[in-house]
Amino acid sequence: MKAEEKPFWETKKLNEMTDEQWESICDRCGKCCLMKIGLFRIRFTKIACPLLDICSGRCKDYENRWKYVPGCIKLTPQNLKKCKKWLPKTCAYLWVLKKHTLPPWHPLVTKKKNSIHTAGISVKNRAISYCEPYNYEEYVVKWDDL
Ligand code: SF4
Ligand code: SF4
Repeated sequence: MKAEEKPFWETKKLNEMTDEQWESICDRCGKCCLMKIGLFRIRFTKIACPLLDICSGRCKDYENRWKYVPGCIKLTPQNLKKCKKWLPKTCAYLWVLKKHTLPPWHPLVTKKKNSIHTAGISVKNRAISYCEPYNYEEYVVKWDDL
């Protein structure tokens, strides 16, 4: 395949992508939006961030999210490596960073917007909605795709 026929995620560096391209790399798995515990050894729980829609894997108010969740971190090409420790191993940004390609279940590859859910690696049918109080320890999960 000639370079000009290749998709942008295989030809551009992360910091060369437009904002729209960068956002489209996110497959909306929703797993980075699960509550986590631990400082050095970070563990995922199946409890969703209060703003996470556990059916779609999308933030319910992405534009205004910091108003409700001040600790939400925006992934950027600059902070991606630093954020690796709390991202799931299937994160599409990590695929592009490490393998210069996207995984086969990614909506940009399949051209099907729900392919992340049909592949069974999103939060759909696995996460639970946020509700206080929780003993987070009881909800730690060890999914293979985290
Ligand atoms: S883990 Fe990565 S691909 Fe999945 S929702 Fe978070 S940023 Fe997007
Ligand atoms: S505020 Fe939105 S983007 Fe941030 S962690 Fe929560 S659901 Fe995810």
